[in-house]
Amino acid sequence: MNIHKIVLPTPFPVGDVNVFLVKGEALTLFDAGPKTTEAYETLKTGIRAAGYEMKDIDQVILTHQHPDHAGWIDAFPKANILAHEYVDHWLRQKPEFLEYRDQFYQYHMIRQAVPERYIEKMLQIRGELELLGTTPLTHFIQDGDEMPGHPGLKAHYTPGHAQSHLIFVDEKTNTAIGGDLLLETISSNPLIEPPIDLSMDRPKTLLQYHQSLTLLKDLNVSKLYTGHGNEIENVNELIDFRIKRDHKRAKQAYDILSEPKTVYEVTQKLYASLYKSELGLTLSKTIGELDYLEQEGLVKVELVGDVLIYSRT
Ligand SMILES: [Zn+2]
Repeated sequence: MNIHKIVLPTPFPVGDVNVFLVKGEALTLFDAGPKTTEAYETLKTGIRAAGYEMKDIDQVILTHQHPDHAGWIDAFPKANILAHEYVDHWLRQKPEFLEYRDQFYQYHMIRQAVPERYIEKMLQIRGELELLGTTPLTHFIQDGDEMPGHPGLKAHYTPGHAQSHLIFVDEKTNTAIGGDLLLETISSNPLIEPPIDLSMDRPKTLLQYHQSLTLLKDLNVSKLYTGHGNEIENVNELIDFRIKRDHKRAKQAYDILSEPKTVYEVTQKLYASLYKSELGLTLSKTIGELDYLEQEGLVKVELVGDVLIYSRT
């Protein structure tokens, strides 16, 4: 793969994001950074440093819909924009979708026994969407598709961190563009998001995420270009490490369940120093661990009124 990495600043706690310019029969930008002035200038400079201009980009392909990756699709009005179909809901930001999204989060936070004042606050956080592009997709990518202009570069659907998440594997070199599926120094969070079919069913994101990591392991990728930080060469070793750490965290959640508890109560104990400032993130992580314990038959869940109560089996 003829690949050129460009590192863009983001205003998010995660820090910089990587985007990749790949020259094949087409000139393709993988991911596009957040829609900030700083990221735009850095992107333009980076594309020039690789010997091209913004207008030379034929297509932008997105790994997933998060705003640190999907902002500056708006900078390429003539390019094709390709991603998983789910991304389109977030780019179009139709009032019906935004309302559905709020209802989805509200419904689940009530079940998790999140105090009402926090639910209100969480629903008001719309800031993230402002840094997301609004150019609709021109093409939807499905699992197994070959990328136009890049023979042998195939998409693999890898949900968990995001419901739209794709990685792109070059079958000739066994290298891959991995988005946020696996990162060198930080763990990717299995964020709770509305499901692909836009029902109220909650995807079990940690279980999805581990399945996606297992798929990546089976692909035996020799070099992974990541969304944040350095490239990874010991891919399979790092996958084992990440899964083991999640299971350790699940054991802690199990210990906390010596008495039946709500998701919110488990989160308060499991992430005592973090849950107040990072409620969405820590709830997602807790739910992931509880889903895992439930799948293992160690924990059961029961609906009492509007609230889910988790207890040991
Ligand atoms: Zn990211």
